[in-house]
Amino acid sequence: MQTEEMKLDGNALGGMMLELFGVEMTTASSTCRSCGAVEQMACVDVYVHAPGTVVRCRHCESVLMKVVRAPSRTWLDLGGVRVLELPG
Ligand SMILES: [Zn+2]
Repeated sequence: MQTEEMKLDGNALGGMMLELFGVEMTTASSTCRSCGAVEQMACVDVYVHAPGTVVRCRHCESVLMKVVRAPSRTWLDLGGVRVLELPG
């Protein structure tokens, strides 16, 4: 499987983000710490076949977010996000 074939859009995160944050997150905006681009979470690049889930900036390909889940816990790394703006 090629890397491009493993790439999904941010809608692939919808269910997991709703579970983690308790709110609909696909319309939330994230600011990339690396390039400063602001995108709705629905418009980021998502790789679900990495170890865990990796979310990359569509503009500079920097890692915005990593999510690793185990049966009893979740690790959430938001180190590549400067600002996460939630609607409402
Ligand atoms: Zn970026």
